[in-house]
Amino acid sequence: MKINETFQTQVTKECDVFVAGGGIAGISAALAAAREGAKVILAEREFALGGLATAGLITIYLPLCDGMGRQVSFGLAEELLRLSVKDDLIEDKNPIHWFDDYDIETRAKAERYEVRFNAQYFALLAEKELLKAGVEILYGTLCCGVDIADRHIDHIVCENKSGRFAVKVGSVVDCTGDADICYRAGVATEKFGKGNVLAAWHYSLSDSEGYKLRMKGAADVPDEVKNKVDYGEQSLNNKRYSGLDGDELSGQVIDSHSVMLADIVKARGKDKSYMPVTMPTIPQVRMTRRIVGAYTLDTAEEHTFVADSIGMVSDWRRRGPVWEVPFGTLYGKDAKNLITAGRNTSVTDNMWDVMRVIPCCAVTGQAAGIAAAMTDDFDALDVTQLQEKLKNAGVILHEKDL
Ligand SMILES: Cc1cc2nc3c(=O)[nH]c(=O)nc-3n(C[C@H](O)[C@H](O)[C@H](O)COP(=O)(O)OP(=O)(O)OC[C@H]3O[C@@H](n4cnc5c(N)ncnc54)[C@H](O)[C@@H]3O)c2cc1C
Repeated sequence: MKINETFQTQVTKECDVFVAGGGIAGISAALAAAREGAKVILAEREFALGGLATAGLITIYLPLCDGMGRQVSFGLAEELLRLSVKDDLIEDKNPIHWFDDYDIETRAKAERYEVRFNAQYFALLAEKELLKAGVEILYGTLCCGVDIADRHIDHIVCENKSGRFAVKVGSVVDCTGDADICYRAGVATEKFGKGNVLAAWHYSLSDSEGYKLRMKGAADVPDEVKNKVDYGEQSLNNKRYSGLDGDELSGQVIDSHSVMLADIVKARGKDKSYMPVTMPTIPQVRMTRRIVGAYTLDTAEEHTFVADSIGMVSDWRRRGPVWEVPFGTLYGKDAKNLITAGRNTSVTDNMWDVMRVIPCCAVTGQAAGIAAAMTDDFDALDVTQLQEKLKNAGVILHEKDL
C-alpha cells in the first residue's frame, strides 16, 4: 500500500477563527468570534455541543457571584447561564434573588447565582445560538494534527466521516479541555500530576425520588474521605486517571459504567419503579493538561488588580474570593496564533480547581474568541482594545469597578 498517497491531506476548508472543541469554552469562543464578524469553524468530536456540561451530565452551572452579594462574572458567562434555563426549564437551584432585583445585603444571605440546568435542552439551544451567529459547526470531527511553521499554525488537520482533511486557519482557539491542539503544536504544556478520581454521574427516574442526578464516584467527595468511597463490587479507591491516554480513558469509562450498573441494580432491588434515564457519553475527568501561558495565575492573587484582566471569576467552594483573570493566562509564547480557553488555561494546580468550572470557561472563552477575531499574533495584541470590546459586551474587568 502506498501509505503517503493514502494519507495525503487535502485542504478543504478555510476560516478566520478555528475553534477546537464545543464545550462551554468552545461555545463561548465561537459565539464571541462570530459576533465580531469573523468566519468561524467549530470542530467538535461528539455529535452535540456542551462537552462535560451536557454530554458529561455536569449540569450545575456554578456561581457568577462572590457569595457576598456581588455578581463578578458577566457577559457570555451570564448569557449562557440564562440560556441554560430558558423557558424556566430549571432542574434545581433557582436563583430568584439574581433573576429579580434584590439588594446586595439580601443577595449576600441568599443562595448564590447558580443553577442546575437540563443538559439536552441547553445543548439544543446552544447549537441554535451558534447557527444564528453564523458559526459553521462540524460535528463528529476530531482535530488530530497541527501544521505549524515559524510559530504560526497554518492548518488544523481533522478527521470525520468524510475522511482526513485540513482547514486553513487565521487563528486557533484550543477549547478541547485537554490542550490537545497545544500539545500537537509542540507548545509547552503541563499535566495535572495528581490525576482524577472516578466519577460516574448519571440520571434516574423513580416514584420515590423523581428525576434525579446521581453523583456517584468520588469527584464531589471531600479529600479526607475520597479513599473510603463505596464503589459497589470493585475497589477503585486508589485509582486515578490522567485523562490523556487512550487505553486509560477507555478503562475509566468502563470503570464508571460498572459503578453506574451496580448502582442501578441496587436501586432497582429496592424500588422496581427505578429506571436509569441517561448516562454520560464522554469521560468525566476534570483536570488533565493545560498550556504553559505567558502568565500563570495562582489562588494567592485573589482581590489583586490585574492590568490585562479579561474578566473576573469567583470561588465556587467558598464565599469571598474574587480573581481578575490575566489575558496572559490564555496564550503561550510558542505559537503566535494559538489561544486557549476553558479548563486548559494557564493556572497553578490550586487555581485549576477554581478555573475549570463552567462560568470560568465562559469567561475565558468569550475573551479568547474576541481576541482570535482581532489578531493572529496574541503576544502583539493591544490588550486595551480587547478590553474595550469586552466592556462593550457587558463584561466588568476589575473588582474596583463593581
Ligand atoms: C465529575 C465532575 C464534576 C464537575 N462538577 C462541576 C460542577 O458542579 N459545576 C461546574 O461548573 N463545573 C463542574 N465540573 C467542571 C466542568 O464541567 C468542566 O470543567 C467544564 O464544563 C469544561 O468546559 P470546557 O469547555 O473547558 O471543556 P469540555 O467540557 O471538556 O469540552 C471540550 C470539548 O472538546 C471536545 N474535544 C476534545 N478533544 C477534541 C479534539 N481533539 N477534537 C475535537 N473536539 C475535541 C470534547 O468532545 C468536548 O465537547 C465538573 C467536572 C467533572 C468531571
